[in-house]
Amino acid sequence: MSTLTDRRKLEIEDCARSYIERLRRHAGNICGEEVPPRACFPIDMHLFLSEILRLPVRRVGIIPSSRGRSTVGMYDTDVVVISESQSVEAQRFTAAHEAGHAVLHPGACQLRERSLRSGSDLVPVSVNEIEANFFAASLLMPRELVSDEFIERFGSQIVREEMGEDEAHALTGGRLSPSSLRRMSPRKLAEYFARAKWFHARQFDALVGVFGVSPDAMARRLTELKLIV
Ligand SMILES: [Zn+2]
Repeated sequence: MSTLTDRRKLEIEDCARSYIERLRRHAGNICGEEVPPRACFPIDMHLFLSEILRLPVRRVGIIPSSRGRSTVGMYDTDVVVISESQSVEAQRFTAAHEAGHAVLHPGACQLRERSLRSGSDLVPVSVNEIEANFFAASLLMPRELVSDEFIERFGSQIVREEMGEDEAHALTGGRLSPSSLRRMSPRKLAEYFARAKWFHARQFDALVGVFGVSPDAMARRLTELKLIV
């Protein structure tokens, strides 16, 4: 499977950042006052596609596909099609993924598919698909803001081997022991942090809600940003 170079990742993150800034200014023009960056989240994907990228969005039921796959989204140079056969959070990620194609690979028709059997995304094989996924993550969950919100809630980077009784209780309500959390993969553990509303005796909004993404998408971003290791 191909991966992106660090340099390409930086370019895509910079690109996503510039589009968030455009959205922020656009929102400011609509409401007639300065909009702080945090107020842009969760990103309004409908506004983003229609007003910033000038791409109409069509929502449909199931998009027929082949080989045990269903198409969940499509970018066809002048329209974005999103299937409503997925969760609201998955539809938002698909919309951001198609936005990635429109920005990074304009003019090429692209499909986003998932397995009908498992319902999960297929492992992207082409560089374009990996780039669109990375753009989507950078747009919906920008590095700086996710890091700030994470540190605000959990104090510091989380090291799996250091999980104790208090942390296990806050994350799982006593259902799992610290040792079972320590044995989890960073990605699996990160899903608990993505959903957490309580830590070190403080209550807060879950990260998944702040950014409008699924626990799986947030967990991928948290491990990618090395906030959970
Ligand atoms: Zn795609």
